[in-house]
Amino acid sequence: AAQRLANKVILITGASSGIGEATAREITQAAAGNVKLILAARREDRLSTLTSELLKSFPSVKIHNAKLDVSVQESIEPFINSLPKEFADIDVLVNNAGKALGKDQVGDLLQEDIQGMFQTNVLGLINLTQAVLPIFKKKNSGDIVNIGSVAGHESYPGGSVYCSSKAAVKFFSQSLRKELINTKIRVLEVDPGAVETEFSLVRFKQDAQAAKKVYEGTTPLDASDIAEIIVFGLSRKQNTVIAETLVFPSHQA
Ligand code: NDP
Repeated sequence: AAQRLANKVILITGASSGIGEATAREITQAAAGNVKLILAARREDRLSTLTSELLKSFPSVKIHNAKLDVSVQESIEPFINSLPKEFADIDVLVNNAGKALGKDQVGDLLQEDIQGMFQTNVLGLINLTQAVLPIFKKKNSGDIVNIGSVAGHESYPGGSVYCSSKAAVKFFSQSLRKELINTKIRVLEVDPGAVETEFSLVRFKQDAQAAKKVYEGTTPLDASDIAEIIVFGLSRKQNTVIAETLVFPSHQA
């Protein structure tokens, strides 16, 4: 089934760490290096390191690294329109870039954090989707994988903005799937529970102790667990849509 990934052009946002990075690895491995990746994030140094690693194991893989801040609306369309020819005909968009910021109750949340979450998790994802859709519609083919969260299904105190941003991802994905019902464009959504990545470090603004505490006494998933699910969904037959996958470590149920 992984052969279905062969020769595809796959754009992954937030490929510089965690789930996005693991997805780049998993896809490359599943396609035995027979794939073209566009790896996007703000930290270019991380993308370069990942690219070198992937090329070492799979010299045939083609990679285009792109410095992209998905929260800057004006940069999205130019980015898609100026991709090198070899990478321009995108087949798969993995909308993974996202973050939680701050642990505070809504009254204490900083304005910049509120905006940061919505601009990245919601508007970034929607704008990228809008920019890529014409490519998919033209050939009546393509896959969009949106990374939501269990937080989009169930809220928690201190998660008001993050949870609502992920609920937006869930309903955007559902609506889009319905809009595209008569096409061969699939919309998949993967909703992780606790995964140990740099997510908590970002949430607590590089406070490593606070970040570590989140996972204390639990066995969180690791990024590759989610990457495997993404690859599974992408490598189903064209008429099979794994619409929404809720996946969390057993302690979270
Ligand atoms: P990481 O912090 O490890 O990775 C987040 C990625 O998003 C990084 O590559 C980061 O790259 C990128 N990113 C953040 N902001 C922007 C931006 N403005 N523009 C472009 N890229 C950006 O966390 P995860 O891998 O865990 O998170 C990936 C996704 O999974 C997110 O959508 C998150 O909400 C979701 N998720 C995570 C869970 C978890 O427990 N870890 C649980 C549920 C969902 P850079 O900083 O280089 O730009």
